[in-house]
Amino acid sequence: MKRYTIATIEGDGIGPEVTQATMQVLRAAAGHDLLSFQMLDGGAGHYQKTGQVLPEDTFAACRDADAILHGAAGLPGVVYPDGTEVGNDLHLRLRFRLDLYANVRPVKLLPGVVSPLRGFDGGGIDYVIVRENTEGLYASRGAGVLLRGEMASDSLVITRKGTERVAEFAFRLAESRNGALRDGKRRVTVCDKANILRSYAFFRAICDEVHTRHPTVEIDYAYADAITVHMVKRPNFYDVIVAENMFGDIISDLGAATAGGMGISPSGEIGDDHALFQGAHGSAPDIAGQDAASPIATVLSGVMMLRWLGDRHGDARLYEAAARVEQAVETVLAERIAVPRDLGGTARCSEVADALCRVLA
Ligand code: ATP
Repeated sequence: MKRYTIATIEGDGIGPEVTQATMQVLRAAAGHDLLSFQMLDGGAGHYQKTGQVLPEDTFAACRDADAILHGAAGLPGVVYPDGTEVGNDLHLRLRFRLDLYANVRPVKLLPGVVSPLRGFDGGGIDYVIVRENTEGLYASRGAGVLLRGEMASDSLVITRKGTERVAEFAFRLAESRNGALRDGKRRVTVCDKANILRSYAFFRAICDEVHTRHPTVEIDYAYADAITVHMVKRPNFYDVIVAENMFGDIISDLGAATAGGMGISPSGEIGDDHALFQGAHGSAPDIAGQDAASPIATVLSGVMMLRWLGDRHGDARLYEAAARVEQAVETVLAERIAVPRDLGGTARCSEVADALCRVLA
């Protein structure tokens, strides 16, 4: 029976706490024989000690592992000379070197979690944002122009290949889902500013081309400004949203806020051969080391990891473990067995993990 190697980077801030909690829960669900966590160095703290945010041996281990699990990286004040954050560079380097082009951010309101939006509690929000992860406005990170202290520019890059593959990912995802909650229609909404920039019009045109290969899925369009209103007023209309990199970054935090916040929102950065899973939040230095963080975002990222591995390897044990962890999270929150502080409860990070393990047992 195959044992899956998970390259695991705890990182900085709350990273170690939420990673340890997630490993505990995944082991409780899957047993000790299914997953092998390989602990690796990396992050802003490691950079302070060694000058390397992603050591070469960590990169090699991530490349060779079956999947990557990451806590969070980044420390206040640990920046490069140009002012950009060191911590972010950990997963950005992995993202580019392993070509993790689809950043998948489920927005799902779980039973027992209260949304700031009225009328959707009890599971009334369930859609997925697929953010293009390797180009768009962030393509020129580290390569923008700063001229004589007078002007700066970064270029927005949209390529046919980059858009085709992320659009294909989004349509296939919609085909695998049950459609939007409002009307049951399988739908991909293309989020852009095609009314303003040629590059975004190109993005939309390529999504249209890809759509012709997926006739059972409806295509829909929303400008990036307008979608922020729709995501608040009618979140149940959405099924899958595909967006350019920066727009996807922004709207996925908005989506997370409507479904309980960063502490409950998972993410997966997925390519053709590799994938990295981490909570949507950062390293939250304000609460680090206090056992106060919610581990749920990382635990649910672990669920995404199990399903992604399941899809690749056709191993039923992975799907079973994923379903059990997901069910345990729902039970712990819906029955208020251990509600983390950011969701209005009092449970510590370790208490949430222990409660999940008890439910799993
Ligand atoms: P980044 O730029 O890396 O996303 P950030 O500082 O902007 O980092 P976070 O680190 O996500 O953002 O923190 C934003 C706020 O959310 C902080 O007040 C933090 O305490 C809170 N927060 C983030 N993650 C969690 C969590 N897992 N549990 C509880 N609170 C969290």
